[in-house]
Amino acid sequence: MSIKQNTLKLLSSIPKNIDVVAATKSQSVEEIKSAISAGIKIIGENYVQEAKEKYGKLKGLVSFHLIGHLQTNKVRDAVEIFDMIQTVDSVKLAKEIDKRAKKPMPVLIEVNIAHEKNKHGIFPEDVLNFLNSAKSLKNLQIKGLMTMGPILKNPEDYRPYFKKMKQLFDEIKEKNLPNASMKILSMGMSDSYKIAIEEGATMIRLGRIIFS
Ligand SMILES: *Cc1c(COP(=O)(O)O)cnc(C)c1O
Repeated sequence: MSIKQNTLKLLSSIPKNIDVVAATKSQSVEEIKSAISAGIKIIGENYVQEAKEKYGKLKGLVSFHLIGHLQTNKVRDAVEIFDMIQTVDSVKLAKEIDKRAKKPMPVLIEVNIAHEKNKHGIFPEDVLNFLNSAKSLKNLQIKGLMTMGPILKNPEDYRPYFKKMKQLFDEIKEKNLPNASMKILSMGMSDSYKIAIEEGATMIRLGRIIFS
């Protein structure tokens, strides 16, 4: 099937209140345009430089989200290109975004839900501390949480991690913090998005199912 057909089929199967982010790393502008023509409204890019190259040609056609790790020396460019940064994973990065952004920047906190050694993200037990440290950052508009999660064989194996994310999300939401609104829970990829939706994802990020 073509990218357009993949996307149409996918979007027709997903509840309307779920936001679908097309994960477009290594996809060309033409391929991304095919997905947009079938209804994709948000793309997720992993690298600032790659996103910058595509931005010139896709600006205004689609929202840009950063879904890969952000280094502090790339923040200046990132705040120009992206409508949302989904991967805030340290106080240092949060401060840099606050400093460089010319207007409030929507962000998600990346959570390392399974305490994986080689993954970025704040450990779940440290998220409240992070929020406390980010309190005074006026240009940081914290809208929710994001997780990558471990790579597992069986889709059902993702469920406990998604449940933990939803618990953390609800726990923070109940606190009604002035600087964190908890509207978006970004979790689930091609192998796991159905389980993620069942467990409360409001946003899913899909690559292979759209582009292969
Ligand atoms: C590539 C990527 C995805 C999409 O993964 P697929 O398995 O291709 O659906 C989602 N989130 C992030 C952060 C990614 O890098």
